[in-house]
Amino acid sequence: MPELPEVETVRAGLQELVRGFRIKSVEELHPRVRKSASLSPIRALEGARIVDINRRGKFLWFELDRPEVLVAHLGMSGQFLIAKEQGARARHIRASFKLSKGLQTKTLVFNDQRTFGWLSVEEVVDGIPTSVAHIAPDPFDSEFNRSEVIKNLSKRKAPIKSALLNQAIMSGVGNIYADESLWRAKVNPQTPGNSLSSNHLGKIVDRAIEVMAEAIERGGTSFDETYVNVNGESGYFEFALAAYGRTGQPCPRCGTPIDRAVIGQRSSHFCPRCQR
Ligand SMILES: [Zn+2]
Repeated sequence: MPELPEVETVRAGLQELVRGFRIKSVEELHPRVRKSASLSPIRALEGARIVDINRRGKFLWFELDRPEVLVAHLGMSGQFLIAKEQGARARHIRASFKLSKGLQTKTLVFNDQRTFGWLSVEEVVDGIPTSVAHIAPDPFDSEFNRSEVIKNLSKRKAPIKSALLNQAIMSGVGNIYADESLWRAKVNPQTPGNSLSSNHLGKIVDRAIEVMAEAIERGGTSFDETYVNVNGESGYFEFALAAYGRTGQPCPRCGTPIDRAVIGQRSSHFCPRCQR
């Protein structure tokens, strides 16, 4: 599932590949591709020019030369792909955009096997689209406030793992990077947020920033036969994880087998020896 580093890789890829292009036509190819709260069908954006691609947490939005924006969430498996050849077909295309800039034309598709991803036409309030309003700034946002995040985490009785996943406190951290951050900070995921010192909480936040920054750096764009993949999927698989998904394998720090527990209905991976 794409988390902040993967979504940031997609944002950077889109910025490079479609900024400045005009949306000539839009086709919606699946009934669930458009969020029900969308102000209009996506094709209402025909004629708009893509000015920039923005992101907060795991939400992306296309800034246009008009007041509305196109918001995108990749869900579990969403991808943006650029068709390299005319007529190329990915397997699970949910929406297709014909783009042009001068004599250049491109086809941008939203491919999503599991259909949890969505697109939506929205208004912007204070620079933020409606569906992103409840999302706290992520650590790479100029509005990110580290001490505010630490204060909010310290009020939570819930396990620190669940508090880290709470997108209203700090956005962008999902199951993978939450487990990696706690492993790096040597904190057990079950520990209640309000039992950790500000010092410890600061360490967890800093490790989260560190691990996501490393993952962004290793993201990068990958290519296949017919599509330019702006999804960052390859970065996701190449990034070496210490705890997440490594149940039973040795902890890279102490060699103890990594343990798994279900916390808040999400599986958590941790070292029972160095994360107490
Ligand atoms: Zn260990």
